[in-house]
Amino acid sequence: MILPTCKEVSTAFAHGEFSTAPPLRRLGMQLHLLVCWHCRRFRRQMELIEMALKTVVFPLPDSARTDALKRTLLDHLKG
Ligand SMILES: [Zn+2]
Repeated sequence: MILPTCKEVSTAFAHGEFSTAPPLRRLGMQLHLLVCWHCRRFRRQMELIEMALKTVVFPLPDSARTDALKRTLLDHLKG
């Protein structure tokens, strides 16, 4: 088996294709990560960016706040 290149591995991480890749391709990427600290660092950076986007920029809505908003909207629509 030929290991994927850094460009192939980093592109797969950037596009979120690592977890959905076929098993043999995913194995090749995992082996590449064992020997390539550049791609390990890139993966960590992508994970940090994803976490920051989820927690700071686009946080999941609080269920209590959305319920209160729904009640307010329904009350407003009822008149
Ligand atoms: Zn690499």
